[in-house]
Amino acid sequence: MSTVIDNAVAPHAAHAASLRQAQDGAAPVSTPLADARSQLAEAIGLLGFSEGTHQMLATPRRELTVAVPLRRDSGETVLFTGYRVQHNFSRGPAKGGLRYAPNVDIDEVRALAMWMTWKCALLDVPYGGAKGGIAIDPREHSKAELERVTRRYTSEILPIIGPERDIPAPDIGTDEQTMAWIMDTYSVNSGYTVPGIVTGKPIALGGSQGRASATSRGVTHIALAALRHAGITPSQATAAVQGFGKVGADAARFLTESGVTVQAVSDQYGAVFNAAGLDIEALAAHVRETGAVIGFSGAEALDGAALLELEVDLLVPAAVEGVLHEGNAARVQAKVIVEGANGPTTPAADGIMRERGILVVPDILANAGGVIVSYFEWVQANQAYWWRVDEVEARLEERMLSAWQHVLGYATSRGLSLRTAATALAVERVAEAHKLRGLYP
Ligand code: NAD
Repeated sequence: MSTVIDNAVAPHAAHAASLRQAQDGAAPVSTPLADARSQLAEAIGLLGFSEGTHQMLATPRRELTVAVPLRRDSGETVLFTGYRVQHNFSRGPAKGGLRYAPNVDIDEVRALAMWMTWKCALLDVPYGGAKGGIAIDPREHSKAELERVTRRYTSEILPIIGPERDIPAPDIGTDEQTMAWIMDTYSVNSGYTVPGIVTGKPIALGGSQGRASATSRGVTHIALAALRHAGITPSQATAAVQGFGKVGADAARFLTESGVTVQAVSDQYGAVFNAAGLDIEALAAHVRETGAVIGFSGAEALDGAALLELEVDLLVPAAVEGVLHEGNAARVQAKVIVEGANGPTTPAADGIMRERGILVVPDILANAGGVIVSYFEWVQANQAYWWRVDEVEARLEERMLSAWQHVLGYATSRGLSLRTAATALAVERVAEAHKLRGLYP
């Protein structure tokens, strides 16, 4: 697995390169936060909002940085840094995932929290945006260590979270077990069980049917709609999916079930390719056994970066930020890009791909299935009344497709990209809530 480091740092290397270029005066700096702020600035310009409103929406409402000491299984103590950023609560409690990855920092969490605000507003779920993270590589820790880290982090952020304040959910490196530990830590401290404190928890603890696959189902609904919009019949379409985690693996599976030929997938270790289409079930079994897609017998090996430049109809980046940047955007051959990940495309890449006629469906629309079913889960937990899986999935599909139509209509009538349209629609809703509530005092 010597490719681990190279592939894992690829997007950040791109950021570092663009940073160096910027220092040379050659190109603007691209980081997730700079990208998020630039998207906001474009929407503010379009909507004609004041600089005061711009500043308010560009700045997180509340941020917490916490020290997270861990007693390792060996007895040694190590210290990690954790964050929780609450970008906005004008439309309701803050909502957003918790990320465990070595490169997590406050600026990345700020960007992800801002994108959550827009996503919740765009899909009209009654939340603001938040995000959390710990700079830790979960693969280097035992389950017992991850439990201790999660419980300590939860107790440190306890004063600012709650079912009516801020509701965490899984993201990169965390899962339903992580949510169960958060729920338990919060509940023990409250003295009673509080299922509404997290979403994406196990069904046995009040999780929702259909939550685990919701982001991928939403990505698939949008991908099929976007392909048809681009004049491509899904059953004749080819696709590549970057990332084979909670979002990417099920997206590859659902796309395949919908008739799309998924030719390539990747993870942080490398990529695999089969022109006739990958057997996603067999690949998932291989990943469960070995921990990586590489070495799968039903495919040939491919360089991770090359996956993004394959000649396919549909590209689904479902891994990390900044993977489509000004260094590779001119070589992307996909006709439609559906962003399963948050922030995979930098503004420079957006501009290049728009000029080249590539249809990019932005993250805040494409991957909103997770927060929609998180909202359903929170509603169910608060009512202690559970819905059937078919009810959850029908409501998810209806919300995704109506948001798609809304964004498409807004973009088409104004000659905007889908990202600018989606961001403007969302920013307008948040600004309206600000205005109606007024400024205190
Ligand atoms: P995950 O940890 O389950 O999976 C991440 C996957 O990406 C893994 O397969 C990992 O190996 C791969 N990966 C990491 N770096 C890579 C690289 N440089 N190149 C290729 N692959 C790489 O995380 P997830 O929950 O699937 O999240 C993926 C993305 O989707 C993130 O951007 C996340 O914010 C976003 N997202 C997740 C959800 C959700 O419900 N889980 C909802 C909305 C958006």
